[in-house]
Amino acid sequence: MATEIDIILRGPKAFEWARETIAAMEANNVWPTAINFELWMHYVAAKDSQIAAEIEQVLNSGARFTEQVGEEIASNHLPSAKLNGEIMDAGRNLSAELDTVSRAIETARETSEAYGQQLASASISLEDKDAENVRSMVETLSAATLKVREENQVLESQLADTTSELSRLRENLEQVRRDAMTDALTMLFNRKAFDQALDKACQEAAEQCGIVTLAVIDIDHFKNFNDTWGHQTGDQVIRYVASVIGRMAAGARIAARYGGEEFALIFPGEDRYAAFSVIERAREEISTRILRRRSTNEQLGAITISSGIAEAMHGGQPAALIERADGALYVSKRNGRNRTTLADKNSESQAA
Ligand code: GH3
Ligand code: MG
Ligand code: MG
Repeated sequence: MATEIDIILRGPKAFEWARETIAAMEANNVWPTAINFELWMHYVAAKDSQIAAEIEQVLNSGARFTEQVGEEIASNHLPSAKLNGEIMDAGRNLSAELDTVSRAIETARETSEAYGQQLASASISLEDKDAENVRSMVETLSAATLKVREENQVLESQLADTTSELSRLRENLEQVRRDAMTDALTMLFNRKAFDQALDKACQEAAEQCGIVTLAVIDIDHFKNFNDTWGHQTGDQVIRYVASVIGRMAAGARIAARYGGEEFALIFPGEDRYAAFSVIERAREEISTRILRRRSTNEQLGAITISSGIAEAMHGGQPAALIERADGALYVSKRNGRNRTTLADKNSESQAA
């Protein structure tokens, strides 16, 4: 997933920005850790970002930009740092909960062992049948019984707390797992999730002698668009296109952001003609929609997409399917963009 800084780092001024970043860090006595570098890159090259604003605030307050300050900003704004932090927190909480429970179990075990010993000595003393002895023995036993009952109650309530803590942790981990598979800009599946889904779809098609179709979709002339309207507006357009593609992902279909302004739709069990009509619907909707810049309401130029579609009977290698769909996409671009091309079964492409 390309973040704003990734894009800047691939642009023509990348080395210049990187040198300026190091200089700014040195001037402010900031240790050049990877996290600090990423944050300060925002400060230098993405002045209007939230990260830049927070660094500015720290500097204005006269505080030192320590590693701890960097980590705090990173955990709020850098997706990977946030994820790591959440996993670490979940692990720490789980470990603390398990410590509490094992301590409670140990105490309960010791108490019940002591109780067992008291019972054993009681049964020996019962044999002398002396009334005074029996009375003191019954007192001892009832005190011990009370203690065991209390310990059990503590244990029960701790187990109940732990059960609810565990289910909370399970939900957190599930959320972290979902985040790791989701593209933060568009909320579609990310590249990693796409790779897994395509592997699975190809494997299932191979096992069931079924079919799987892949469409790859690319926004046309997007570099020009970014250069004209800026990255923020570019991001809005990526989100818009993603929302249309996401809507097409009914049933078993999987919609993913494959790269910067590239998307993919997997159609398990559907052939290339079914995929073609879906992608054409998306293409028409996008090309006829009049988009406006959110901040100024200015009308933006029309956005179009080009796509390539390939199907694989009986599954096969995911990489080969991607290559064929990419080949068909290339034909769409070569033939003038704003169109959809089907790769035929012999892996040649035909314009449609
Ligand atoms: P073509 O019609 O041949 O696809 O032309 P293009 O300009 O779209 O193709 P190219 O791949 O050269 O450029 C893609 C551009 O997409 C480069 C980059 O500026 C932009 N881009 C990639 N990821 C993002 C992103 O996350 N946000 C924004 N705003 N722009 C992005
Ligand atoms: Mg592209
Ligand atoms: Mg493009």
